Amino acid sequence: MTKDSETDHDHTDHTTDRTDRVATAEATVPPSSERTTDLRPGADNCYKCTACDTSCPVAEVDDEFPGPKFQGPEQWRLKRSEDTDIDESITSCSNCMRCDSACPSGVPLSQMHNTARGEYVEGMSKLSREYVRNRILANYGRLARIGSRVPRLTNFVMSNRVTKWFNERLLGIASEREFPAFATQTFGEWYEERGGPQIESEDRRIAYFHGDYSNFNTPEVAKALVRVFEAFGYEVVVPEQRCSGTPMFANGMLEDARRAAEFNVDTLSALVEEGYDVVCSCTSCSMALRQEYPELFDFEGTEQVAAHTYEALEYLRLHEDLDGALSESEVDGEHPELAYHAPCHARNQGLHRQALELFRELDGVAIEDVGDSCSGISGTYGWKSEKYDYSMEIAEEMFEHMEDADGTTGLTECPTCAMQMEHGTGYEIDHPLEVIEKAVV
Ligand code: SF4
Ligand code: SF4
Repeated sequence: MTKDSETDHDHTDHTTDRTDRVATAEATVPPSSERTTDLRPGADNCYKCTACDTSCPVAEVDDEFPGPKFQGPEQWRLKRSEDTDIDESITSCSNCMRCDSACPSGVPLSQMHNTARGEYVEGMSKLSREYVRNRILANYGRLARIGSRVPRLTNFVMSNRVTKWFNERLLGIASEREFPAFATQTFGEWYEERGGPQIESEDRRIAYFHGDYSNFNTPEVAKALVRVFEAFGYEVVVPEQRCSGTPMFANGMLEDARRAAEFNVDTLSALVEEGYDVVCSCTSCSMALRQEYPELFDFEGTEQVAAHTYEALEYLRLHEDLDGALSESEVDGEHPELAYHAPCHARNQGLHRQALELFRELDGVAIEDVGDSCSGISGTYGWKSEKYDYSMEIAEEMFEHMEDADGTTGLTECPTCAMQMEHGTGYEIDHPLEVIEKAVV
């Protein structure tokens, strides 16, 4: 099933936009080793076309949010002339990164937003309710590590109405949200129990970056990845890892993100040296490793890990004939109609058409695109009580398209988009890897 000459470790057209954007940003912004928070030179590329503003889902529903142009180039220009403080409104940016893709001028918007948010959060009172709440949400993986030791008890306590009421009153966590249940066996435990990799290979070897959610909440997605890659003859190793940092970036917790990223880069770069590529099942994880790490950090091996990181479907399409394998397969009708939502971070990596292209050729499956809107939850944004209504308003278009679709199963690569899809429609939500598993394993 190997696609011979296309198996080099380069990224393809899927990531051309991202690569160009990063290259343009690097041409105007000093390398991270020479800067702290100075992105002022990057602001000069902005010619005020407002394309970023019109692409921003938060600006569309929140009249008080000034939009990405202000958060990015305008704030950094202001800092150049007066060295002003970062505006509080930066905390309302959900880090969906849609403005990044919209900018025709390669302004490093999300890098500016992440850096500005980090600077703003540095100055926040560490005892304020907002800081404590955001730190908890940003460090979900740490809490999950503790809670998943007694999953049934934690699930009972966290889904209890009294707990939700306290979380809302004390911390500002939206009580409307359903707590994502912990699995009774984590993916890591399952992987260890089965004895690690079942295949050894010199030329087909991947290091799986599963992220926290697949480990603690949806191990079936992570297991599907392992089984699918093994079906294609791959050795799949699962290195020790920490959160990719996505919720930390979104909440301005840059020191937490730095620690997690340093650990991940250290572990993954050693494997890349040994010939492994890094594969993610979550598009926000691949986004963090490929774009946010090199934009914000300069640990040894950061660029190397970024250059060897892929999303799972992308990797199999590049290195194997996944399209051909699926067109010759069928599934048994468990997935009659799939309402597919492309996560914003998949869109930013040019990966938003993959599932549609692949599953249109798969017998036993029909797939419908539910449009190009943001799901509105953006990781932790929709969990904040003051943002919950905006989050649901942003998602309205997606919910309507899902309701119009013939099936009652949703499909997406992002675990928090899946939460929002389920929350708004009651549909069961699958990951594309689970469908591929049914077809090829
Ligand atoms: S990252 Fe998303 S929410 Fe933030 S400014 Fe850009 S488009 Fe708006
Ligand atoms: S899209 Fe780019 S060039 Fe246009 S206003 Fe936004 S940052 Fe400036």
